[in-house]
Amino acid sequence: MGYPRLIVDTKKIFNNVKTLVKMSNRNGIDIAGVTKGFCANTDIVSSYVKGGVKYLADSRISNLKKLKAFDLPKMLLRLPMISEAEDVVKYSDISLNSEVDTIKSISKAAIKLNKEHEIIFMVDLGDLREGYINEDDLYEAIEKTKDLKGIVILGLGVNFTCYGGVIPNKRLVEKLVNISKEIEDRFNLKLQIISGGNSSSIYMLNNKDDIKGITNLRLGEALICGTESAYGRRIEGTYNDAFTLEVEIIEIKEKPSVPTEEIGRDAFGKVPMFIDRGIRKRILCAIGKQDVDFDTIYPFDKDLIVLGGSSDHLILDGSDSKIDYKIGDIISFNIHYVSILRLMTSEYIEKVII
Ligand SMILES: *Cc1c(COP(=O)(O)O)cnc(C)c1O
Repeated sequence: MGYPRLIVDTKKIFNNVKTLVKMSNRNGIDIAGVTKGFCANTDIVSSYVKGGVKYLADSRISNLKKLKAFDLPKMLLRLPMISEAEDVVKYSDISLNSEVDTIKSISKAAIKLNKEHEIIFMVDLGDLREGYINEDDLYEAIEKTKDLKGIVILGLGVNFTCYGGVIPNKRLVEKLVNISKEIEDRFNLKLQIISGGNSSSIYMLNNKDDIKGITNLRLGEALICGTESAYGRRIEGTYNDAFTLEVEIIEIKEKPSVPTEEIGRDAFGKVPMFIDRGIRKRILCAIGKQDVDFDTIYPFDKDLIVLGGSSDHLILDGSDSKIDYKIGDIISFNIHYVSILRLMTSEYIEKVII
């Protein structure tokens, strides 16, 4: 088998899922396991299912297509494109929505395929990505869609800490729950799901009262990285090393830490900046920005410094390391969400799933 290599320990992911499902169930909340961080790899999805998630959720239909064999409801996370309405009905049971025109096209597809499709209306509580920011617009949309054939209004959802970085809190949760009650009263509907957010809502599970009324969370990062995303803290009882990256050394040379010639732009068109540490032992590895995000890889050898690199090269500073690295040696990294996503997506990376 070749390098670079990504090793995935599904037992650790299973443990993380079990821990978070338990934490959530205690608060009357079930989990939609978000699979987009690892391209919905089915071996990894199996540990989600064994760990007790109630739904499988992804932002892309092409990922949901891989999950047909799993007997759990599938949730489409990104607002559907009208052009994919038929596939939305075919490959997902539930989708998150905020546009009447789109819901109408889903209704048409549902009628054609003789299926029912459930929708969750998205509310924007300040993060400024998707959802209704004006309550009256939301009520008007429900009025226009509640009687559409093939469409079932399942509930209400909100997303935090994605575009605007807004952290959820008790007041915002109450606002969502109050809107759901208003909808139930006005339209004589029973909402089955109040989907209160993602891995940034986890800190609220410590206080039952903060998250009262929420029945569902959609979790990706927390399950695969063992971190919550409001404050970037580790979650007790989870692993943060289910994914490990291994790369091979292709050059080791003593070089200055700052270029000695005139500096223009780097391979990505940016003017680079350097810290002058003098002459240093530089270790060149065979992996690049095409495959990984250099800001979210952390060498297990804490004395190595990630300097940067280009599309196909990673440069480390090895001067402070106690290890006498040789050409052909392998260096291992702990990695976080963005790098997991890139590595799983890159066809140049060998995946080893254990
Ligand atoms: C990606 C995504 C999630 C999962 O977010 P995490 O921070 O990884 O838990 C939840 N909901 C929506 C709508 C998403 O797009």
